[in-house]
Amino acid sequence: QEDLFKNVISHAKEYGYIFASSEIYDGLSAVYDYGQNGAELKKNIKEYWWRSMTQLHQNIVGIDAAILMHPKTWKASGHVDAFNDPLIDNKDSKKRYRADVLVEDYAEKLLQKAEKEIAKAKKRFGEDFDAEMYKETNPRVKRYLGDRKEILERLARSLTNEDLADVKKLIEELEIADPDTGSKNWTEVRQFNLMFGTKLGASADTATDLYLRPETAQGIFVNFLNVQKTGRMKIPFGIAQIGKAFRNEIVARQFIFRMREFEQMEMQFFVRPGEELEWYEKWKETRLNWHRSLGLGEENYRFHDHEKLAHYANAASDIEFDFPFGFKELEGIHSRTDFDLKAHEEHSGKKLRFYDPELKENYVPFVIETSIGLDRMFLAVLSASLKEEQLEDGNTRTVLKLPAVLAPTKAAILPLVKKDGLPEMAQKIVDDLKWDFTVQYDEKDAIGRRYRRQDAAGTPLCITVDHDSLDDNSVTVRFRDTMEQKRIPITELDALIRKETDF
Ligand code: ATP
Repeated sequence: QEDLFKNVISHAKEYGYIFASSEIYDGLSAVYDYGQNGAELKKNIKEYWWRSMTQLHQNIVGIDAAILMHPKTWKASGHVDAFNDPLIDNKDSKKRYRADVLVEDYAEKLLQKAEKEIAKAKKRFGEDFDAEMYKETNPRVKRYLGDRKEILERLARSLTNEDLADVKKLIEELEIADPDTGSKNWTEVRQFNLMFGTKLGASADTATDLYLRPETAQGIFVNFLNVQKTGRMKIPFGIAQIGKAFRNEIVARQFIFRMREFEQMEMQFFVRPGEELEWYEKWKETRLNWHRSLGLGEENYRFHDHEKLAHYANAASDIEFDFPFGFKELEGIHSRTDFDLKAHEEHSGKKLRFYDPELKENYVPFVIETSIGLDRMFLAVLSASLKEEQLEDGNTRTVLKLPAVLAPTKAAILPLVKKDGLPEMAQKIVDDLKWDFTVQYDEKDAIGRRYRRQDAAGTPLCITVDHDSLDDNSVTVRFRDTMEQKRIPITELDALIRKETDF
């Protein structure tokens, strides 16, 4: 698994997906740039999300709010007072960690140990093995799972009560060591605000302190009435947004999983008070189905329902994905109550209410939020798609089995040789297809090497022009995943690519 992660990172660089930011200056920690293929993949993920939210739902519309917002926004939202991470330093290594993450990683290891035991037993007992029964009866498995539950509950309790001394005690009792150096010499746990500050205005004394938004959600809340009125929206309805968010993350070591500048795809769904939990369940299901529709493997997803709820929520769940470093949060689904709109009413002095013509009543709507990190989604797609395959002839091939709808290049057009009019014919095909699809012309190297290169870049279709094409106006289409080849008339290419790669 660790190897897989290393492979994903180096593959992402080698094929123009992701570069370290300002790399020639040795990079900027936890900030990344998307390269020529990465930018396309990212754009396609956005499009896939945006269309499934706004185009497929008549009652969801999208906006694009500014990154800079009035400073009162963050007072109202609670970010000034409560957007903190509990940090702990190791006195020997001088390294800084998130205390909750250290404990959660420890708990994850217990889970892995239990799963290992269960897998072993399954092998031993075969067909009629009852895993649930085994969890209840095997003392070792029972202990791992029990300890894990207790640890996580205690962590949740301490964080909710802000009892940071207890978090430190927990780390000491579990004898958690610095992951890099093994030292167990820890400082106290402290809270650290994650917002990036900046200034509006030129002169030092008149400048206003601003924050770069740490989430896109607030841009939706402050525009709730603008959109509701101008769009004549009726509850229930949603507002979607894709945009950058900034957090001064302390532990930012997992490539694009945790970045300081990242993008979110968020949707706030406004509902009648009292109906929120019903909608919460509906959105959990809808969002999981969206993930599944990409075909990255159903076993890669699971829900994690929160025991520790944020100050604004009455229910919350994560969709976790099996990243190369284990199951981690990919998307959050939160029932945010009327907290945000009420807080903005209070701080702005403006009413943010909806007149419900059926109930003949004014109210502050309740909100269900779905919030997914675009970059995390990118990492999920990339790591689930990267495969080393053993071929029948004994060779291996590296192939990026991206969902075709997300692939940066839909088809590569390849003249078999660089002469006899084949390049011209291939170029003509490119010129016909480029209006509808991202296609690429490639004539360098032997055809087998070009196929491999496109496999590794994730291109679902290769279209080869050979000498016969000059006579029969047909080409050979090669499919990335099966490596099957098929001869088809050039006039049918458009329909085939559409069928293979459409939304
Ligand atoms: P985590 O617990 O991993 O820090 P979070 O619970 O703080 O995440 P939310 O505030 O719920 O995250 O944000 C919603 C989504 O935004 C997350 O599910 C995640 O996909 C994404 N996200 C949050 N922080 C980052 C980050 N630093 N880098 C990349 N994506 C992020």
